[in-house]
Amino acid sequence: MHLDRDWGNYLTVPLTTATSIPTLRATFKQLSDLFLLAEGGYLPVTRFQGSREIRHVAENMHLTTGEPWSIPVLFPISDEQAAALKGAEQVRLEDAEGRAAGRILIEEIFPLDKSHYAAYIFRTEDPKHPGVSWLLSVGSHSLAGSVEIEPGWRLDIPGGLPYSPREVRALIAARGWRKVVGFQTRNPIHRAHEFCTKVALETADGLVIHPLLGETKSDDTPVEVRLACYRALVENYYSPGHTLIAGFPAWMRYAGPREAIFHAQVRRNYGITHLIIGRDHAGVGNYYGPFDAQRIFSEFAPGELGIEPVFFDTVHYCRKCGAMTSPKTCPHGAEHHVSLSGTAVRQLLKDGKSLPPEFSRPEVAAILLDAETRT
Ligand SMILES: [Zn+2]
Repeated sequence: MHLDRDWGNYLTVPLTTATSIPTLRATFKQLSDLFLLAEGGYLPVTRFQGSREIRHVAENMHLTTGEPWSIPVLFPISDEQAAALKGAEQVRLEDAEGRAAGRILIEEIFPLDKSHYAAYIFRTEDPKHPGVSWLLSVGSHSLAGSVEIEPGWRLDIPGGLPYSPREVRALIAARGWRKVVGFQTRNPIHRAHEFCTKVALETADGLVIHPLLGETKSDDTPVEVRLACYRALVENYYSPGHTLIAGFPAWMRYAGPREAIFHAQVRRNYGITHLIIGRDHAGVGNYYGPFDAQRIFSEFAPGELGIEPVFFDTVHYCRKCGAMTSPKTCPHGAEHHVSLSGTAVRQLLKDGKSLPPEFSRPEVAAILLDAETRT
């Protein structure tokens, strides 16, 4: 099973009006946002945002109330759904299995200015950008309002990891950690990222490896394979008293710099105090400069985001140094470095070859090779 699923074309799902409250079958992305809004994951944002707020966030990276916020939270609906919901005070949401997930207390139904949103949030209107492509694929209207989730309803997240902000904050508190480094990832962790997490952990009390488990692009590594890699790596190479793996149930926007700010603010709500921001964080293709996602943090006042970024340059193994290094620590040329692009990694695995030990831990390489030979 791959997470890049589309839970039915919700544009064509009719509203159920058998009861007095209309019901809408929500997509995974909508349910993920519903969950994070209701559980305090998006604080200070607690509702699907209205037209004025969306425009203000897009143009100012702040809410109309003054707090920072970088990616407006939408609930896109079709023309037909917008018409059918006209005058309704609330809408019930159900998940793909037809379970009641929660409801939105409707404050506004409005046409989405997709061009404005794309230009500010994705910094491009190119339909080939996966975020723009998503935006173009959704309905023309959006729904704003506060949310409630159905008691006992849980988001369908694989892996059995704790993933609500409350759960993760409690686990951090139980360990007595005060300075907590977080690592966002949507890929298997290779040695370069292991190095970054451990360097950051040296100055902190604990590390939260926080893989995004909501939807990613279909060509990203399947979530079950990634989870097996994280577990094997942590079991064999991390100190259990200082490391926690938790799930991040959000979906990828691929908004690069804007999403780095979003990732940081949401992680603050999980109890993380310092978030690692590497090269091209949350980027895709060549839409963003390699360090744009680091530079954007300087647009906020010190302390404003409530979480500190920890920046890393490109890291690779240097044969001459005999260590993991970066341009900051290694004077040697590229011929001494073990560095593989995502495409090169895929090709090696496709050819049935393992990844070099300087690039990937053997336990991780074995899981990836096994997954490749099974497909
Ligand atoms: Zn070197």
